[in-house]
Amino acid sequence: MYARIAVARPLPEPLTYSVPALLEPVDVGTVVLVPLGRTGETGYVVERIAEPGFDPAKVKPISRVLDPIPVFTLDQLAFFRWIAKYYLCPLGMVIHTAMPSQIGARILRVLVAADAGIDALTDRSLEGIPAQVLREIISRPRLTKRGLIRRLAGELDKPEVGKAIDSLVRRGLAAWEDKEIGATRGKVRTIGLCAPAADLASRLPRAGKRMKALVDLLADQDGPMDVADLISQEGEKARPSLKRLEEAGMIVYAERENRDALADAPSLGSSVPPVLNGDQLAALAALTADDAKGAYLLFGVTGSGKTEVFLGAAQATLDRGRQVLVLVPEIGLTPQLVGRFRARFGLGVAVLHSGLTGGQRLAQWRRIRAGEAQVAVGARSALFAPFRDLGLIVVDEEHDDSYKQDDAVPYNARDLAVVLGGMQKCPVVLASATPALESYHNARAGRYKLLRLPERATARAVPEIELVDLTDVDIEDGKPRPLFAPHVETALHDTFARGGQAIILYNRRGYATMVQCVSCGGTYECPNCGITMTLHKRAWRVACHYCGLKRPYSDECPVCHDNSLEEAGKGTEKIEEVLRALFPNVSLARMDADTTKTRGAHERILTAFREGRTQLLVGTQIVAKGHDFPDVHTAVVVSADRGFRIPDFRAAERTYALLVQMAGRAGRGEHPGRVLVQTYKPDHYVLANLKDVERFYQVELRLRSTLRYPPFSRLCLVRVDGVDRAKVGAAAEHLARDLRSAGRTVPGLGILGPAAAALPKLVGRWRFQIVLRGERTAEFRRFLVDQKRRIHQVARKGIRVAIDVDARHLM
Ligand code: ADP
Ligand code: ZN
Repeated sequence: MYARIAVARPLPEPLTYSVPALLEPVDVGTVVLVPLGRTGETGYVVERIAEPGFDPAKVKPISRVLDPIPVFTLDQLAFFRWIAKYYLCPLGMVIHTAMPSQIGARILRVLVAADAGIDALTDRSLEGIPAQVLREIISRPRLTKRGLIRRLAGELDKPEVGKAIDSLVRRGLAAWEDKEIGATRGKVRTIGLCAPAADLASRLPRAGKRMKALVDLLADQDGPMDVADLISQEGEKARPSLKRLEEAGMIVYAERENRDALADAPSLGSSVPPVLNGDQLAALAALTADDAKGAYLLFGVTGSGKTEVFLGAAQATLDRGRQVLVLVPEIGLTPQLVGRFRARFGLGVAVLHSGLTGGQRLAQWRRIRAGEAQVAVGARSALFAPFRDLGLIVVDEEHDDSYKQDDAVPYNARDLAVVLGGMQKCPVVLASATPALESYHNARAGRYKLLRLPERATARAVPEIELVDLTDVDIEDGKPRPLFAPHVETALHDTFARGGQAIILYNRRGYATMVQCVSCGGTYECPNCGITMTLHKRAWRVACHYCGLKRPYSDECPVCHDNSLEEAGKGTEKIEEVLRALFPNVSLARMDADTTKTRGAHERILTAFREGRTQLLVGTQIVAKGHDFPDVHTAVVVSADRGFRIPDFRAAERTYALLVQMAGRAGRGEHPGRVLVQTYKPDHYVLANLKDVERFYQVELRLRSTLRYPPFSRLCLVRVDGVDRAKVGAAAEHLARDLRSAGRTVPGLGILGPAAAALPKLVGRWRFQIVLRGERTAEFRRFLVDQKRRIHQVARKGIRVAIDVDARHLM
């Protein structure tokens, strides 16, 4: 018998292998190890066939079965095939993306001693270097070659170890074995300071800049830090400094239990549902009707009780013995939602999030497959969990861009949820206060059923957004423009005086987006991306926000070394500094990508705010996401205008959603809320229509229709990148020409470019893009499928090509 095996490599088709009788049964969904190239590769059985279709003598056998229980069902395979076809990528890549990393993919070759080897050591027939190496293998079973070389470093060099291994294996004294990397169960290593940072400072060597930086970083944590987090943040190069700090007795290592923070998430809220209002009941009735199927857009203002509606629908689904999938944009930001599901459905809730180790994720999958978990709550990849009988899919905050994955398989989980619901014949609920324009359009066109919740569920109305026109603010001569208009400052003062809380949004992190030399104009530029680097004053360094490169900062100009750098362009760090000066007695927390890098940091910041230990929360857009804090009286958007300036056709839609979501954070409790949005352009249609969602959607739809942008067309972005600018440009040019001539007769097709991407150089690679636009979906799809090969063929040495179907960003 033979099998078609999909592997996680960019190959157009699955490969054919024979199945030795000894290994049977090898069903569809089995994970196997197959010989490929010089090594082996994990593969997934996607089909059993009787004949290979070519010379059987050339067919290689499968090497091993890694997991005899199929990891996906036939239904799921059909789903994976659909994804591969739609997103124009190989089936193996789709399955690889869909599977928890734990499955097969992480297999290490390790060394084990054979009995003959142990005998040879005992009777001393083996001596010298091979004996030394074998002793190491015995004392530390299951070492990889690299691990072995590392352990013997200082005694033996790399070729010596390599030669000894070869000879041991050849003589049957040791053997290679495949080891699946287990979950990092048990303990996690942590690191902490032995004394307050101030006391340590004097003991640091003068030249120990990196050591000082590490001490500062550790001092900034509210407890010991996970070693893994520290290394992922600072890089491997931090290790020598850590060693020196340890030797000097300044830091200490410890361990903590590897708990899955969200799995232990406490139940939140009541286990008894509230009495639903009329709108909620109508929505619930539609979703739980016997013939409910297809997609529903649950379009309700923030706090209108959308969550209560889908909790109710989930209950009805469970009562029928079927399973429920709830997708959330970023699960780390939604512990509350998890808590509400826990309160309602107890231990039957499986939580899937990116913080899980491969093993933990696999354990959750097994619970779902066995039907022990009836509800799964998770980020986009939860879509691929092996449900037995899915009866309802919920996509919460369906407009959120984090549903779009940007890696190898650029799928959009919201769209795929609709596809999956269609395959499983179960209803799909897309919930949002600011639906994506596509979803709104689909609802208006009747493709999705519209469920409206126009009012807040509690007594409080959604606060009105007050626009603050900054052009009206008088500035005294010679004084800098204040960050906040006077009455915004007063509103904040009053809020704190009353003991209320405030949230302030500024959508850019760092201290200054640019430091420029006033004598020569020199700036810190990222050598990889050619972009000015952002100053992070706290860490005293500059960072590239695209590739992550960090460099030390000094206040002298990197070009002329003059001492005359000036900061320009603000970031959250600067806003924090201003706020601390304005409100010295108010406890403040900043939440952005810089302060939330370590595990659990989100929750710590949000919990402190919920419990009232901090009064003021300042940060980037993460502060606007779905949180439910009852004591927020005031929400302030420092500048609405930043969002419009982004050169992307979705800029207006995104800004609108952000402002509405931000407004939804205020006035959720007893006290009415105020939302203040500062702008220089109060007449911009995004701001002028803040009170009327439908109006905004109408205006935006008209604009999109004129410009033939989605939802009136489909987009597919083809990006070509590489280090040699001229070669990349020529390849893109060539491809565009070929596509144009192939597409001449395709109705409604537009091909734009090639053009340099908005970020023309990223991480040292030049980027060109071609935008394909189709106004007629069927014809466009056919064209893409036809041209898939041609596009992929552009990839060759030094040139990469990526296809992004339904691209969200054209940058
Ligand atoms: P959304 O998901 O639309 O933001 P939620 O479902 O979180 O809204 O509801 C907002 C708040 O109102 C929650 O605290 C919730 O418990 C409460 N709530 C929702 N529906 C009702 C209702 N029918 N009666 C009373 N309180 C409700
Ligand atoms: Zn960079």
